[in-house]
Amino acid sequence: MHCPFCRHPDSRVVDSRTSDDGLSIRRRRQCPQCGGRFSTIETASLNVIKRSGVIEPFSREKVMSGVRKACQGRPVTEGDLAMLAQSVEESIRQTGSSQIDTNDIGLAILGPLRHLDEVAYLRFASVYQAFDSLDDFDAAIAQLRADHAAAVATADAD
Ligand SMILES: [Zn+2]
Repeated sequence: MHCPFCRHPDSRVVDSRTSDDGLSIRRRRQCPQCGGRFSTIETASLNVIKRSGVIEPFSREKVMSGVRKACQGRPVTEGDLAMLAQSVEESIRQTGSSQIDTNDIGLAILGPLRHLDEVAYLRFASVYQAFDSLDDFDAAIAQLRADHAAAVATADAD
Protein backbone atom coordinates (compact mmCIF):
# COMPACT_ATOMS: atom_id res chain seq x y z
CA MET A 1 0.00 0.00 0.00
CA HIS A 2 1.00 3.64 -0.53
CA CYS A 3 3.12 5.36 2.07
CA PRO A 4 0.82 7.89 3.84
CA PHE A 5 3.71 10.37 4.08
CA CYS A 6 5.27 10.47 0.61
CA ARG A 7 2.83 8.33 -1.44
CA HIS A 8 5.60 5.92 -2.38
CA PRO A 9 3.74 2.92 -3.88
CA ASP A 10 5.46 0.27 -1.77
CA SER A 11 6.15 -0.44 1.90
CA ARG A 12 7.99 -3.08 3.87
CA VAL A 13 6.46 -5.06 6.77
CA VAL A 14 8.74 -4.74 9.80
CA ASP A 15 6.52 -6.47 12.37
CA SER A 16 3.26 -8.50 12.42
CA ARG A 17 1.18 -9.20 15.45
CA THR A 18 -2.08 -11.11 15.78
CA SER A 19 -4.61 -9.50 18.08
CA ASP A 20 -5.53 -11.28 21.32
CA ASP A 21 -8.84 -12.50 19.90
CA GLY A 22 -7.13 -13.81 16.78
CA LEU A 23 -9.47 -11.90 14.48
CA SER A 24 -7.05 -9.32 13.15
CA ILE A 25 -3.40 -8.82 12.31
CA ARG A 26 -1.61 -5.57 12.98
CA ARG A 27 1.40 -4.87 10.78
CA ARG A 28 4.08 -2.25 11.32
CA ARG A 29 5.29 -1.01 7.95
CA GLN A 30 8.16 1.13 6.85
CA CYS A 31 8.46 3.14 3.68
CA PRO A 32 11.72 2.34 1.83
CA GLN A 33 11.78 5.84 0.35
CA CYS A 34 11.20 8.25 3.26
CA GLY A 35 11.66 5.80 6.15
CA GLY A 36 8.25 6.74 7.61
CA ARG A 37 6.56 4.10 9.77
CA PHE A 38 2.86 3.35 9.93
CA SER A 39 0.52 0.54 10.98
CA THR A 40 -2.16 -1.36 9.15
CA ILE A 41 -4.79 -3.65 10.59
CA GLU A 42 -5.97 -6.54 8.53
CA THR A 43 -9.28 -8.30 9.21
CA ALA A 44 -11.45 -10.57 7.10
CA SER A 45 -14.20 -8.34 5.81
CA LEU A 46 -17.59 -8.86 7.40
CA ASN A 47 -20.47 -6.67 6.35
CA VAL A 48 -24.00 -6.39 7.61
CA ILE A 49 -26.97 -5.74 5.35
CA LYS A 50 -29.49 -3.76 7.34
CA ARG A 51 -33.23 -4.05 6.86
CA SER A 52 -33.12 -0.74 4.99
CA GLY A 53 -30.68 -2.31 2.49
CA VAL A 54 -27.77 -0.22 3.76
CA ILE A 55 -24.50 -2.16 4.09
CA GLU A 56 -22.13 -1.40 6.92
CA PRO A 57 -19.18 -3.16 8.56
CA PHE A 58 -19.99 -5.56 11.39
CA SER A 59 -19.57 -3.85 14.74
CA ARG A 60 -19.24 -5.55 18.12
CA GLU A 61 -20.14 -2.22 19.66
CA LYS A 62 -23.55 -2.37 17.97
CA VAL A 63 -24.13 -5.92 19.19
CA MET A 64 -23.27 -4.77 22.71
CA SER A 65 -25.58 -1.76 22.59
CA GLY A 66 -28.47 -3.89 21.32
CA VAL A 67 -27.98 -6.44 24.06
CA ARG A 68 -27.26 -3.80 26.72
CA LYS A 69 -30.82 -2.50 26.40
CA ALA A 70 -32.22 -5.96 27.07
CA CYS A 71 -29.92 -6.32 30.10
CA GLN A 72 -31.02 -3.19 31.96
CA GLY A 73 -31.36 -3.93 35.67
CA ARG A 74 -29.90 -7.41 35.21
CA PRO A 75 -26.65 -8.63 36.79
CA VAL A 76 -24.76 -8.43 33.50
CA THR A 77 -21.45 -6.55 33.32
CA GLU A 78 -19.80 -4.72 30.43
CA GLY A 79 -17.26 -7.54 30.44
CA ASP A 80 -20.08 -10.06 29.92
CA LEU A 81 -21.38 -7.98 27.02
CA ALA A 82 -17.93 -7.79 25.46
CA MET A 83 -17.51 -11.57 25.75
CA LEU A 84 -20.94 -12.10 24.22
CA ALA A 85 -20.17 -9.75 21.32
CA GLN A 86 -16.91 -11.58 20.72
CA SER A 87 -18.57 -14.98 20.64
CA VAL A 88 -21.27 -13.61 18.32
CA GLU A 89 -18.57 -12.35 15.95
CA GLU A 90 -16.66 -15.62 16.11
CA SER A 91 -19.74 -17.72 15.41
CA ILE A 92 -20.65 -15.53 12.44
CA ARG A 93 -17.11 -15.63 11.05
CA GLN A 94 -17.07 -19.41 11.43
CA THR A 95 -19.88 -19.62 8.89
CA GLY A 96 -17.39 -18.26 6.36
CA SER A 97 -19.75 -15.66 4.95
CA SER A 98 -18.47 -12.14 4.41
CA GLN A 99 -21.94 -10.63 4.24
CA ILE A 100 -24.78 -11.28 6.66
CA ASP A 101 -28.06 -9.62 7.48
CA THR A 102 -29.22 -8.24 10.81
CA ASN A 103 -31.44 -11.28 11.22
CA ASP A 104 -28.39 -13.57 11.32
CA ILE A 105 -26.88 -11.38 14.03
CA GLY A 106 -30.07 -11.59 16.09
CA LEU A 107 -29.99 -15.37 15.77
CA ALA A 108 -26.31 -15.51 16.74
CA ILE A 109 -27.05 -13.38 19.82
CA LEU A 110 -29.93 -15.50 21.14
CA GLY A 111 -27.84 -18.56 22.09
CA PRO A 112 -25.12 -16.88 24.16
CA LEU A 113 -27.56 -14.35 25.64
CA ARG A 114 -29.80 -17.14 26.88
CA HIS A 115 -26.79 -18.65 28.56
CA LEU A 116 -25.90 -15.29 30.13
CA ASP A 117 -29.27 -14.17 31.47
CA GLU A 118 -32.66 -15.68 30.74
CA VAL A 119 -34.66 -12.56 31.53
CA ALA A 120 -32.53 -10.48 29.16
CA TYR A 121 -32.88 -13.27 26.63
CA LEU A 122 -36.68 -13.11 26.82
CA ARG A 123 -36.62 -9.34 26.45
CA PHE A 124 -34.29 -9.52 23.47
CA ALA A 125 -36.22 -12.36 21.85
CA SER A 126 -39.49 -10.48 22.30
CA VAL A 127 -38.15 -7.57 20.26
CA TYR A 128 -36.09 -9.56 17.80
CA GLN A 129 -38.76 -12.17 17.11
CA ALA A 130 -41.50 -9.53 17.31
CA PHE A 131 -43.55 -11.20 20.04
CA ASP A 132 -46.98 -9.68 19.75
CA SER A 133 -48.93 -11.47 22.44
CA LEU A 134 -48.55 -13.01 25.87
CA ASP A 135 -48.81 -16.39 24.16
CA ASP A 136 -45.45 -15.74 22.49
CA PHE A 137 -43.90 -15.13 25.92
CA ASP A 138 -45.65 -18.21 27.31
CA ALA A 139 -44.24 -20.32 24.49
CA ALA A 140 -40.70 -18.97 24.98
CA ILE A 141 -40.87 -19.48 28.76
CA ALA A 142 -42.31 -22.98 28.33
CA GLN A 143 -39.36 -23.76 26.05
CA LEU A 144 -36.89 -22.49 28.67
CA ARG A 145 -38.64 -24.59 31.36
CA ALA A 146 -38.63 -27.68 29.15
CA ASP A 147 -34.91 -27.23 28.48
CA HIS A 148 -34.24 -26.80 32.22
CA ALA A 149 -36.15 -30.01 32.91
CA ALA A 150 -34.18 -31.79 30.19
CA ALA A 151 -30.91 -30.48 31.65
CA VAL A 152 -31.88 -31.74 35.12
CA ALA A 153 -32.86 -35.12 33.70
CA THR A 154 -29.50 -35.34 31.92
CA ALA A 155 -27.68 -34.43 35.13
CA ASP A 156 -29.62 -37.11 37.00
CA ALA A 157 -28.66 -39.68 34.42
CA ASP A 158 -24.96 -39.04 34.98
ZN1 LIG B 1 7.30 7.37 2.35
